[in-house]
Amino acid sequence: MTTPDRPYLRIATEEAFAPPEMFALYSEHLRDGTIDDIGFNSLVGYFLGSPHPQPRWVVDRLEDLGAARIADMDAAGIDHQVLALTAPGTQVLDAKEGARIARIANDRAAEACDLHPDRFSALAAVSFEDAGTAVAELERGVTQLGLKGLIANSHVRGAYLSEDRFTPIVEALVDLDVPLYLHPTTPPNDMIAPFLDAGLDGAVFGFGVETGFHLLRLITSGLLDRFPGLKVVVGHLGEALPFWIRRIDHMHAKQVAAARYAATGPLRQKPSEYLRTNVWITTSGMPWTDPIMFVRHVVGADRVMYAMDYPYQYDLAEVAEQDALPISDADKADFFENTARRVFDLTF
Ligand code: MN
Repeated sequence: MTTPDRPYLRIATEEAFAPPEMFALYSEHLRDGTIDDIGFNSLVGYFLGSPHPQPRWVVDRLEDLGAARIADMDAAGIDHQVLALTAPGTQVLDAKEGARIARIANDRAAEACDLHPDRFSALAAVSFEDAGTAVAELERGVTQLGLKGLIANSHVRGAYLSEDRFTPIVEALVDLDVPLYLHPTTPPNDMIAPFLDAGLDGAVFGFGVETGFHLLRLITSGLLDRFPGLKVVVGHLGEALPFWIRRIDHMHAKQVAAARYAATGPLRQKPSEYLRTNVWITTSGMPWTDPIMFVRHVVGADRVMYAMDYPYQYDLAEVAEQDALPISDADKADFFENTARRVFDLTF
């Protein structure tokens, strides 16, 4: 990597990859129909089945952790990527297959990081279906492979990470002091029908609705009161929660006071305040100055960092737009580099 002609490195923090073994397994399941997740069959069926050059390019780049990816990074001025297993990852697979794919993904990501330590860091993947195996694989990923956090491609076959069966994984994240990156996937079977009917289940809208809901659910479940040390990173400028949060605070307080739902009990702080204590937000897929400035204002400038969402949203112009944010050079260095270094403990 050559020294850039700017006073900061650009670290992109939500950059996807996929081992070919995962796509091979997905293809088998698409053929034999053994995964009943509707969103999987639609989304992955499209990416692996479409003859259109755009999805074919994305799949090709997802599988590349070498020269082609680095050339794209150089062309866009991206110095470093934080890699994560692409959606839906392990989360449509059973425990056995999911654990196998997670191990392959973690080994492959670690190899790329070892080969190109200045260009790549990576998050660990696990199968969430078996918490004991997940904890062991997360520990292996962080302590032996040098991985920097855990990717969760949102719901686990319709289950949310506030559920008790995932508690050992949350405890391990806190003990290891690494963040959970809560990343979108298609809505679960109980939610997807009207989205799919409208063709709006994917990144165009359904991803954000479902993932924002997941993050809010982690907050209102009291999970962050039970685990105040849990660090959550979320993309796409917070999956719309920063925009909603005043109304969420207001209505949440009312329904708690009225004891309307057992699921929304009292919290130690307002829902909005967790965005300032436990959550960091990236700009993946949202390269737009005004909302970035708004989110910095709502959650604090030190909690917002750059991401591209490569290869899904590979857009050279977006880098220039974010370089031109109306903030100081010191704030830009935090936005593009220092906050990511701190949150993911990047040591390159
Ligand atoms: Mn993404």
